[in-house]
Amino acid sequence: MSLTNRILLAMVLGIAFGSILNVVVGNLDPTSGLYGFLQNGLIMGLFDGVGRIFVASLKLLVVPLVLVSLICGMAALGQSSRMGAIAGKTVGLYLITTGIAVSLGLTIATIVGPGKGMTQADGGEFVRKEAPPLIDTIVNMFPSNPVSAMAEGNMLQVIVFALLVGFAATRAGAHGERIISWFQDMEAVVMKMVGIVIELAPYGVFALLTKLFATMGFSTIFNLATYFFTLLAVLLFHGLVVYGALLRALTPLSPGMLRGKMRQVWAFAFSTSSSGATLPLTLRTVEKKLGVNKSVSGFSVPLGATINMDGTAIMQGVATVFIAQASGVDLTLTQLLVVVLTATLASIGAAAVPSAGIIMLTLVLTQIGLGLEYLPLLLGVDRLLDMVRTAVNVTGDATVSTIVAYHEGQLDETVYNDPAADTQEAGGQGSPV
Ligand code: ASP
Repeated sequence: MSLTNRILLAMVLGIAFGSILNVVVGNLDPTSGLYGFLQNGLIMGLFDGVGRIFVASLKLLVVPLVLVSLICGMAALGQSSRMGAIAGKTVGLYLITTGIAVSLGLTIATIVGPGKGMTQADGGEFVRKEAPPLIDTIVNMFPSNPVSAMAEGNMLQVIVFALLVGFAATRAGAHGERIISWFQDMEAVVMKMVGIVIELAPYGVFALLTKLFATMGFSTIFNLATYFFTLLAVLLFHGLVVYGALLRALTPLSPGMLRGKMRQVWAFAFSTSSSGATLPLTLRTVEKKLGVNKSVSGFSVPLGATINMDGTAIMQGVATVFIAQASGVDLTLTQLLVVVLTATLASIGAAAVPSAGIIMLTLVLTQIGLGLEYLPLLLGVDRLLDMVRTAVNVTGDATVSTIVAYHEGQLDETVYNDPAADTQEAGGQGSPV
């Protein structure tokens, strides 16, 4: 069985086994021995442990990968630097797709009306966590100490540092060439590490999903079914239809091919709920399976994982309308525009980790003067939605990278159009995964 199918099978088995455990454990006497074995030994012991080791192994790769990919990417651009054009197109498309995402969320939620009929009693007390001021996000992009940027895993700072190193190396003559060749060797090693971790993914994905579904409270989903399914529908529509339409409109490439090659990435995003932890696989897929040259992918994928979160923006749009309707507030056109703007910024500021988006939602709600008392309710159903929106987030990164690469002449269409392409091994003769 191919690795992709094994990962997908692990996903299905994890969800099924976790859900069974959920029901079984829920009906056991907490003082019984079997409860102790299943809850503490299996769910919170074995599966939680294996899942956390898997996520840690992925996160371990992120900083080295971003650093070497970006330096090699800059080197690949060489002296004829197209960095400005690539950066401009990438950031422009990221902003446009996020704007579309929020607007879609706002429109569909306004039509469906998921918050109508809720009463104040349904809400609760929300312990406010401060969302960071947006100007800080921009100022914090510039590192004062590259070592601490890497130690803290501050991705935007690592990106800025790597761009600078790559830029300087291409202009430092023979010294630069030697350094670049060292980083190219390093990149092959780090990519190999990514390949090794991915081989272990079926176990990691199974453990993560089993633990998650064994401990998830499903009853809240029934209470908020309209919100849940409205958001889910918009997420799926954006992930499958909007990106496909964008790819079709801006390139002659087949969206079906991209979707087919994203299945592993989706499985990772779904089980980790973190675009950050998924980044090694997103980058590898975009380069090896979609054929995007590292001069584009090295920049656009790590940047996208950090700032481009369309799924998060959709959630913020739908959640804002839900809360406005529940509070009996009719949003004016100006307020809607403010939501589009702040949700775009809030999704840029959201960290690429689980539940980051819902924390940033406070920023949007505060901007238009809505209360936070319905947030605990939304938090109750957020885990599953977070998994789906993370998959949308990474799809946006891959789609935009492909479009930009195509327009910059940095896309290998033979690789893109080959369903079995996976140039994992140096020399481009990797085994299809
Ligand atoms: N979990 C999402 C991500 O990492 C962020 C969010 O909470 O929306 O992409």
